[in-house]
Amino acid sequence: MRNYTQFYIDGRWTAPITPATAEVINPATEGVSGTISLGSAADVDLAVAAARRAFTSWSQSTVAERLDLLRSIQAEYTARMQELGEAVTEEMGAPLALGTGFHVGLGAGHLQTAIEVLENFKFEERKGPTLLLKEPIGVCGLITPWNWPLNQVTVKVFPALATGCTSVLKPPQLAPYSAQILAEIMDKAGVPAGVFNMVQGQGSVIGAALSRHPDVDMISFTGSEPVGVQITKDAADTVKRVGLELGGKSAWVILDDADMAANVTAATSGMMVNAGQTCSAGSRLLVPNARMAEALAAAKAAAQAVSVGNPLGEVAMGPVVSKGQWNVVQDYIRKGLDEGADLVAGGAGRPEGLDKGWYCKPTVFRATNDMVIAREEIFGSVLVIIGYDSVDHAVAIANDSPFGLGGYVSGQDRDTAIAIARRMRTGAIWVNGGFDFHAPFGGYKRSGNGREWGEHGFAEYLEVKSIIG
Ligand code: NDP
Repeated sequence: MRNYTQFYIDGRWTAPITPATAEVINPATEGVSGTISLGSAADVDLAVAAARRAFTSWSQSTVAERLDLLRSIQAEYTARMQELGEAVTEEMGAPLALGTGFHVGLGAGHLQTAIEVLENFKFEERKGPTLLLKEPIGVCGLITPWNWPLNQVTVKVFPALATGCTSVLKPPQLAPYSAQILAEIMDKAGVPAGVFNMVQGQGSVIGAALSRHPDVDMISFTGSEPVGVQITKDAADTVKRVGLELGGKSAWVILDDADMAANVTAATSGMMVNAGQTCSAGSRLLVPNARMAEALAAAKAAAQAVSVGNPLGEVAMGPVVSKGQWNVVQDYIRKGLDEGADLVAGGAGRPEGLDKGWYCKPTVFRATNDMVIAREEIFGSVLVIIGYDSVDHAVAIANDSPFGLGGYVSGQDRDTAIAIARRMRTGAIWVNGGFDFHAPFGGYKRSGNGREWGEHGFAEYLEVKSIIG
């Protein structure tokens, strides 16, 4: 059992001003795995005041000092990677290999990237008669979700620190452990008092207090659209910058010249990674109508090959994060059936033999783009396959979405694939795979307004000052 009842404020472990606790549930067992404290607005006031005090000196720190600190954090992070991965598995149900692998690796990658960007970043530039300065924006409220908990914390905390900002982190109640360990890492690495603070608790209390706080200069938020809208409204009275990374319903276009079976298999098993709880997942798979039968057969086989079970075992897919999320996924599967989508694999209910734990079936529908399951983000192990007649038709379907976060194009002719990627209204597109920690990540349309990762991730935390003459 984990007992994380103190917050990290002003370089010290601090009990909440008004004691209140919540149990954390292990989604694989439905049992209690530990306890956290729930903070109040008064705890936020303390953390923001500490961050404000620390900003005076941290904003004046040198690049060399910040690089030294990031490297100390890196040493501590590296030493605790196994522990971090185990915490991710326990808090949100990712298979252990994924938790100790990609989840923790994303955090390590964002840390290394922050170091690389900081080594070369131009905080000053001369443009004609003007000296342009890029200065830290100030005290930042960082509000994160449970789905890739370490990724989302590290992609905010390290750029904020590297640019000379100070921060208050509000991790998700459902997945609070990895953030708590990260706070221990920051403490051990010698982060100066107040530069990084963490308060656990309810979004409607801690997140709202940060968003409304007159002494917070910026909010960086990843999560659902309604909460992103609420934060924007809460932040409006104090004219804060708000960076939003919201949901997605990304299209994966497989072109006619592609190896259909291999690409459909990759897209289907890719959809089931992290039990489908990935904002940039390719949840709408677009295949040529002429090759639909081949695609459906490959998707069915791939979905049925996904092993589901206890995340401590050797499985491809664990449970979804909570009972609430399980119910959301089940509702969408029922909606898909009600609106006449063809069920290709999976369906409602738990997989056979799994009676406890929030496990879903890897599910594939053949649908049309006007159906609810093709328009709304399900955030679960449900893939929707949609047919297209021509490349123009595929682009039109891909763009016919309220979201614009990710996108994928598979095809042998690289130029054609890139030409299609250029026409898709979305923030990041993977053409025949690939991965880059320096590529900006963020959404068009209702997927948000910010760009994280790499150099663009630094810009979020910077003000631009012109000194003219
Ligand atoms: P939420 O948007 O509800 O939560 C994200 C974070 O915001 C959590 O830390 C949450 O706190 C906090 N929060 C909640 N209410 C407020 C508020 N009023 N002011 C400030 N902060 C607040 O996402 P969920 O975790 O509930 O997930 C729901 C849906 O959101 C998913 O089904 C999915 O569609 C989408 N989502 C998208 C993600 C993405 O990366 N694009 C990531 C996660 C979810 P608390 O701890 O109380 O929940």
